[in-house]
Amino acid sequence: MLKISVVVPVFNERDTLAELGTRLLRTLEETGDSFEIILVDDGSSDGSLEEMKRLRAQDSRIRVLQLARNFGQVPALYAGFSAARGDYILMIDADLQNYPEDIPKLLEKLEEGYDVVSGWRQARKDSLFRRWASRLLNRWIARITRLPLHDYGCSLKGFRREIVEHMNTLTHRCRYLPVDVACLSGNVAEVEVRHSPREKGPSKYNLFKLIRVAIDLLTGITSAPLQFIGVVGWLFALIGFGMGLRVFIIRFILGDNLGLESVVALFFVLSGVQMIATGLMCEYIGRIFIEVQQKPYFVIRKELE
Ligand code: UDP
Ligand code: MG
Repeated sequence: MLKISVVVPVFNERDTLAELGTRLLRTLEETGDSFEIILVDDGSSDGSLEEMKRLRAQDSRIRVLQLARNFGQVPALYAGFSAARGDYILMIDADLQNYPEDIPKLLEKLEEGYDVVSGWRQARKDSLFRRWASRLLNRWIARITRLPLHDYGCSLKGFRREIVEHMNTLTHRCRYLPVDVACLSGNVAEVEVRHSPREKGPSKYNLFKLIRVAIDLLTGITSAPLQFIGVVGWLFALIGFGMGLRVFIIRFILGDNLGLESVVALFFVLSGVQMIATGLMCEYIGRIFIEVQQKPYFVIRKELE
């Protein structure tokens, strides 16, 4: 068994791989523990794979996993996790926005007994828009998962082996790593880490992909948006009933004839009833969604002696 596995998802990162390898090797050697570095090629087409093979040839502690095509960062990470042999399994981006030199800080927390340790990027070097969007999402996720972290999106994280073994048994496809983690352990630490701007090549996430990720994230971890429809339906129906009552009173007590008002009231009542029905259906769909995910109902860490 090895002490440390570091998993790196790689999608067209040819220009940083050599430096990444050197810095990772140096940092991990300084820990004095046995380790492996797993580079997961996520369908790169820029010669990254050749670069990885070259690194592997120089040092057999570097392993290379080639995926069949581009699956995305998180599937690539999970592929790496499924192959990792270490007691402590860490993840880091290939683009050197995270500092490999911060890894010992994470290891220290795992040594202290935490199941999971997550980086908290200080002075984050991304665009204003991304930082703003992240802040919004972070708040949301904190509310939904009840796992209080500042920076869920940081890709420098570390896990105790048991947690990764549990993660490997999960089968749902709509997944967001920190949410899986929150489902598996409450013993999570956060450490401050450095962040640098992306030096080589563009980010693999453009605006549309980011919006897609945000929608996937919200719809993937909660059925709250579905439940919203029923609430709006009740609101419509109540407004309609109120208006209807008003028409009724005016018509039968004051004797006025309010044709248009009656129609408007009827419209509100009918659309309200329809939305309530749709909302009810959404409740069931939301439950189907939760059921098909087959997330563990409970997770036992261990039985004490
Ligand atoms: N990545 C990947 N597959 C993808 C997209 C990204 O393996 O489809 C990797 C990428 O090579 C990098 C990490 O995921 O190691 C994070 O990507 P990036 O730096 O572009 O994201 P950002 O830092 O802009 O969030
Ligand atoms: Mg990056």
